[in-house]
Amino acid sequence: MKSLRTIALKEAQTRISPEVKSPSAKISDFFGLNVFDKRKMRDFLSKEVYEKLTIAIDQGELIGQEEANQIATAMKSWAMSKGATHYTHWFQPLTGTTAEKHDAFFEPSSDGAIEKFSGAALVQQEPDASSFPNGGIRNTFEARGYTAWDPSSPAFIMENKAGKTLCIPTVFVSYTGEALDYKAPLLKALAALDKAAVDVCQYFDKGITKVNASLGIEQEYFLVDESLFNARPDLVLTGRALFGHMSAKGQQLEDHYFGSIPDRVFTFMVDFENEALKLGIPLKTRHNEVAPSQFECAPIYEEINLAIDHNQLLMDLMEKVARRHHFRVLLHEKPYAGINGSGKHNNWSMITNTGKNLLAPGKTPKNNLMFLTFFVNTIKAVHEHADLLRASIASVSNDHRLGANEAPPAIISIFLGQQLNEVLDEIEHSRISKKIKEDNALWLGIPKIPQILLDNTDRNRTSPFAFTGNKFELRAVGSSANSSAPMTVLNAIVAEQLTKFKVEVDKLIKKGDKKDIALLTVIKKYIKESKNIRFEGNGYSQEWEDEANLRGLSNIKTTPKALDAYVSEKTTALFTATNIFSKRELHARHEIMLENYYKKLQIEARVMGEVANTSIIPAAIAYQNTLIENVKGLKELGLNDEAVAVPLGIVNKLSEHLGQVKSNIDSMLEERKATNKIDDTREKSIAYDEKVKSYFETIRYHVDKLEQIVDDSVWPLPKFRELLFLK
Ligand code: ADP
Ligand code: MG
Repeated sequence: MKSLRTIALKEAQTRISPEVKSPSAKISDFFGLNVFDKRKMRDFLSKEVYEKLTIAIDQGELIGQEEANQIATAMKSWAMSKGATHYTHWFQPLTGTTAEKHDAFFEPSSDGAIEKFSGAALVQQEPDASSFPNGGIRNTFEARGYTAWDPSSPAFIMENKAGKTLCIPTVFVSYTGEALDYKAPLLKALAALDKAAVDVCQYFDKGITKVNASLGIEQEYFLVDESLFNARPDLVLTGRALFGHMSAKGQQLEDHYFGSIPDRVFTFMVDFENEALKLGIPLKTRHNEVAPSQFECAPIYEEINLAIDHNQLLMDLMEKVARRHHFRVLLHEKPYAGINGSGKHNNWSMITNTGKNLLAPGKTPKNNLMFLTFFVNTIKAVHEHADLLRASIASVSNDHRLGANEAPPAIISIFLGQQLNEVLDEIEHSRISKKIKEDNALWLGIPKIPQILLDNTDRNRTSPFAFTGNKFELRAVGSSANSSAPMTVLNAIVAEQLTKFKVEVDKLIKKGDKKDIALLTVIKKYIKESKNIRFEGNGYSQEWEDEANLRGLSNIKTTPKALDAYVSEKTTALFTATNIFSKRELHARHEIMLENYYKKLQIEARVMGEVANTSIIPAAIAYQNTLIENVKGLKELGLNDEAVAVPLGIVNKLSEHLGQVKSNIDSMLEERKATNKIDDTREKSIAYDEKVKSYFETIRYHVDKLEQIVDDSVWPLPKFRELLFLK
């Protein structure tokens, strides 16, 4: 019988890409075709309702019942004109994927049937939500969850071969109003940031009434042929290769990065980009990444809530479209040990209703004081809550990546670039003397900030949080993560910080300081207080770990302990003051993240045991048997010991590694049984990390040794060279 691997290899070599036809040669012709955007709203709504909806979108005003009915009717007409038969609330539960529950517009009536969609159905749905993670918030006897319309993210149509569905972005909350998703807290954090930032903007420009956070998400991913993927139970069930010796050629020649994109991959990219563009996702960039078979795509930045919805939608689309091309997309942070993993860089800034980017250095000293205000407050916020930011990017899969010499370490630090560092140093050491105060000669105290920052082009890639010209880039987010988790934290901590800043500045003004002097005085103080977190050197180096330790920065390497920051007193105070999470919600979320952590390790441990016991060990024994036959034959021929030494040596080696694999799998199973009995989720997660996961490396080591010894034609799992280099 042919092995699955052999069949898969054959299939992978004879792929023909499906034909991909772009809707038009010009992207602008079909961009947003499937989105109920402002232009379509204007066409389908009365003037009054359109205006009300615009205010709701831009300023978060509530929408009345009557307007909701009219909007629902308009949405239905538009969706039906595009061929949609069903609608669904589209939400982001804490499972990490998106969720949908479809209902038909169709309703039977006395004289046949009609298509209906009411305002009530638009505004709220009650999915049977008892099986979504809730961290103990929902008792099963009140298992109701509600999805509620988020008008700030436009409805869109998902196309499927068999039908089209109108999707309405929503938040997902429990019967008692607690958040069960990623979006609800994000929206609250954005409201907190808006308020705090607008208040601070008033020092500079009374015309600023709204501040939006903006986000551009770079998405890295791997592609693998479908048949090869299916021949690897570990990839199918855990998203990463639990076994596999590194291919002789990996990424050492650095020949993949920005290389020409293989045809089959290019066709796939164009296909999913077309789908994404029709959904209004402004994809702009595509290229090869560092590791073989690794790629990246990035859209132009958008308002943050929309950017995150779009990223979630994009991940979905990529997976769906990949199937048409007999590919699988691996969004896991570390599918293959030994080569780079994948991240999701979050480029973040704040932009006002007047179109000003608050993190862009200005031309005039006054503008620079405004820039410095937001710049330094962001640094200070990250300094204050570095542990929480670290927790917000923690996951079982991202643990493989952080600090693994390819991604920022688990130490949060900030890179500013030489010029801005000098500016901050200069302010820190400047004296705001009595004379400066009296002469109002403040501008002598503020160093000039160059418009074009040198480090903008030559950036330090090893920093987890880097200033890149007119935005900060959080690079530690994992490729499979929902960016809402870290972005809720980032926006919340900056909101809290700006609020504190305003209190301090106002105090000084009250005492008689001129406004600009007061602003600079507090900025100067913050620069000093947050200095420890600034680091310009190589973040991957051991020296940095040592230095960070001396500086007192934390370096928590594994998820279960990193997550403690979610329930600390400091975090609770932050989130309750900004009205983003209640204490109960925080504890529920903490519980869910821990559960997610150990359950994923539990699955990995099981898959490891199963694959080793039922595929690897039998293959090695089969090969050993042929060697034993060989030894017997040689001896029958009367050959001496020297002649049988080679096969006999291999037989012995095989026995040695087989023994190690088996005994470690068995011990791991025993540990798992013991660990499963632990009730406390945090303790259980730590035990899974320290007592179960600790076997993975040893087991893998011996399996990978076997891979290098066993006859290639009987080895059951597609090898790294096959997974990584076949196109
Ligand atoms: P790279 O980091 O690969 O060099 P770019 O500098 O081109 O990439 O930008 C990465 C992302 O940052 C893009 O999505 C881009 O739209 C986004 N970006 C640019 N300016 C801003 C901004 N002011 N706020 C948020 N994101 C931004
Ligand atoms: Mg980047």
